[in-house]
Amino acid sequence: MRSEICELLDIQYPIIQGGMIWCSGWELASAVSNAGGLGVIGSGSMYPEILKEQIQKCKLATNKPFAVNVPLLYPDIDTHISIIIEEKVPVVITSAGNPNTYTKHLKEKGIKVMHVIANVKFAQKAEAAGVDAVIAEGFEAGGHNGREETTTLCLVPLVKSKVHIPVIAAGGIANGAAMAAVLCLGADGVQMGSRFAATQESSAHPQFKQEIVKAGDGATALTLKEITPVRLIKNDFYNQVQKAYEQGLDTDGLRELLGRGRAKKGMFEGDLQEGELEIGQVSAQIDEILTAKEVVDATMKECLKVLHKTNSAYNFE
Ligand code: NDP
Repeated sequence: MRSEICELLDIQYPIIQGGMIWCSGWELASAVSNAGGLGVIGSGSMYPEILKEQIQKCKLATNKPFAVNVPLLYPDIDTHISIIIEEKVPVVITSAGNPNTYTKHLKEKGIKVMHVIANVKFAQKAEAAGVDAVIAEGFEAGGHNGREETTTLCLVPLVKSKVHIPVIAAGGIANGAAMAAVLCLGADGVQMGSRFAATQESSAHPQFKQEIVKAGDGATALTLKEITPVRLIKNDFYNQVQKAYEQGLDTDGLRELLGRGRAKKGMFEGDLQEGELEIGQVSAQIDEILTAKEVVDATMKECLKVLHKTNSAYNFE
């Protein structure tokens, strides 16, 4: 399956891996790229020297294009951007911030830029800033999320009708049937985070991966909107946040309760109760740890089968 996004990014399949913090090192990124998708290094949890090392290892492990995800809230962002340019990373995915800040600079260096958005206003802002594509991420998605709670089903066609650049759908996609669904909505490709967090090559703690496999429907919630909306698994930490809301804790109090390094504690160190376990609603559909290649192959196979079956199942004449 070739598409506009495949041409743009020089990849075989329109499958982009999410740049999830603590899950997305060079092993995962290179495995996804080698399987024909676009692998992504998640720089949000990496100090600059770690990012540099991860990029260099990724380049040794694949000769295919890969990307770095840069949350624009990151404290050492200028250093990250300099490393990305110095190391000639082919694609950058920016999120959680103003796309005007770095897009022009990155594009002048020959780097393709995509920006993650959760509403039409920011999609248009990203297009005006000159990004090559937007990633429209719906309410179902894990980790940082939009405040409006617009679902992928509603967001993708809306964004598609308002911009003239490719739109990648994200949030709630972990298999080929979901991929087929968003292609029918007009998406030019998909980004999958949760499915790749639970792969062998993901750098997440094995206990977090098992927790993803165990998660059923209703296991996650979107919370902490006052700070940064985040979807996570309901655990002891989540219950503490709920209790804090009941007691009317203000934003400073919530910030104090969140503290520092919660995501690392949960996703990287495997503290399933006190840590922040960022994952999407679609974790309920994930029931085994696969390799990244198995995920890419199974997703493409199922997507094509579903599109074919749907096409032949209905006769509207
Ligand atoms: P916290 O402030 O709670 O903790 C910072 C964490 O990031 C620590 O674990 C720290 O590692 C690590 N880190 C890496 N580089 C730096 C640096 N230069 N300065 C300080 N800490 C650094 O933040 P979070 O863990 O919640 O988030 C970290 C980043 O990831 C943020 O930039 C955030 O925007 C992004 N993020 C993106 C998400 C997404 O969905 N795109 C989801 C969640 C977060 P150590 O403990 O080893 O010091």
